[in-house]
Amino acid sequence: MRYDIAILGGAIMGSSAAYFLKTLAPSASVCVVEPDSTYEFCSTLRSSGGVRVLFSCPENIEMSKFGRTFIRRFPQDMAVSSREAPVDWVEGGYLFIVPPRGMALLEANFEEQMRHQCEVELLMPAQLKERFPSMYVDDLGGGVHSLRDGWCDPHGLLQGFRRKAISLGVEYIEDRVAALSVAGKEVREANLESGSSISADAFVNATGAWSAQLCAMVDMPLPVVPLRRFEHYFTAGNPIERLPYVKDVDRMAFRSEGVGFSGGLVNSDEPRGFNFEVDHDYFERVVWPAAAHRFPPLEAAKCHRTWSGLYEQCELDGNPIIGNWKGRLENFFVVTGFSGHGMMHAPAAGRAIAELIVHGAFQTLDLTRLGYDRVVRGAAYPEAGIL
Ligand SMILES: Cc1cc2nc3c(=O)[nH]c(=O)nc-3n(C[C@H](O)[C@H](O)[C@H](O)COP(=O)(O)OP(=O)(O)OC[C@H]3O[C@@H](n4cnc5c(N)ncnc54)[C@H](O)[C@@H]3O)c2cc1C
Repeated sequence: MRYDIAILGGAIMGSSAAYFLKTLAPSASVCVVEPDSTYEFCSTLRSSGGVRVLFSCPENIEMSKFGRTFIRRFPQDMAVSSREAPVDWVEGGYLFIVPPRGMALLEANFEEQMRHQCEVELLMPAQLKERFPSMYVDDLGGGVHSLRDGWCDPHGLLQGFRRKAISLGVEYIEDRVAALSVAGKEVREANLESGSSISADAFVNATGAWSAQLCAMVDMPLPVVPLRRFEHYFTAGNPIERLPYVKDVDRMAFRSEGVGFSGGLVNSDEPRGFNFEVDHDYFERVVWPAAAHRFPPLEAAKCHRTWSGLYEQCELDGNPIIGNWKGRLENFFVVTGFSGHGMMHAPAAGRAIAELIVHGAFQTLDLTRLGYDRVVRGAAYPEAGIL
């Protein structure tokens, strides 16, 4: 089989890249190799769907702004045969809260977000209390409330991208990449588990937590590893106001969902690796004490469901890696390492990869600093907004 462009991995990143490639180059032949059309273990379907501009790096802020606008218009823009693509966008806002020691960083990030015309408000503890009466604020320095942020249904987003891409002529191949063959400075073929193979002019590695495995097939070092985290659905047990997506410095993060809440608390020390086992005591042991401290009505919270998923964690700096290995593997593009932000950044990242392949350079948003070059140099470009 021969294509102009072969995308490896067909969840949110691969499907977004496929859609933008067909938009920029309608006559290009594009295939997506995805082993599991149910997407059982992919991170996309395990995501909590948050979309926020609360970052420090201009690239991340701008990718979120593009993603947010894109998602708002997604149902209509991604309609196929006048059938809309619902994503259940909720503009519930985001709220980052910090203790006094976190204020200098929060304020610096706030200034950066203001420079990018984000609708953000810096709130002192008394203002936080006024707006969210259930919140315990005595140990807080303040917070930033981002009014136009929110969350959506990751399943709807993935299926919408996939359906639209297929309607534009993209071919999804249900198979797994088993090996990649290189000749000179180019990947020539992807050999699939079924025994067939695909040749293409360009390849995109969009396999998320599995992306280092594919890079290893072409001897390309990639500092991206699987990091398990839990997501919980819980109800309050006591009356509490509707909350935005609340996030604190200890990586507790949750938002309203239906009559309850969805969220968790990332354990940064979690051993890296492919592990989907669920620790059913984690909520009670770790999440509940933190949530109940911040919102005393959650003292009576009840966890109904816990699931696990993998971050494709970039160990270099927590930022994505978008691009090729210049001078070594010119036609092999990676789009991975989003470290917990891949759903919101998928529209911008898919567009960026399409621009790199079709035009040979970023056109709309300059993501050069997120390229593979920094991996080669070992030069971290960290995000300071993940408080
Ligand atoms: C619990 C949790 C909560 C999250 N919350 C948010 C959030 O609120 N907001 C946000 O923006 N992000 C969030 N994320 C992160 C986000 O889900 C990911 O960054 C994003 O889904 C990554 O998409 P992806 O397409 O790169 O990877 P995946 O969705 O993991 O897809 C990778 C695909 O590659 C395929 N694949 C694997 N091996 C091969 C192979 N050999 N050949 C071909 N295909 C292969 C897999 O089958 C899979 O479908 C969360 C993640 C988790 C786990």
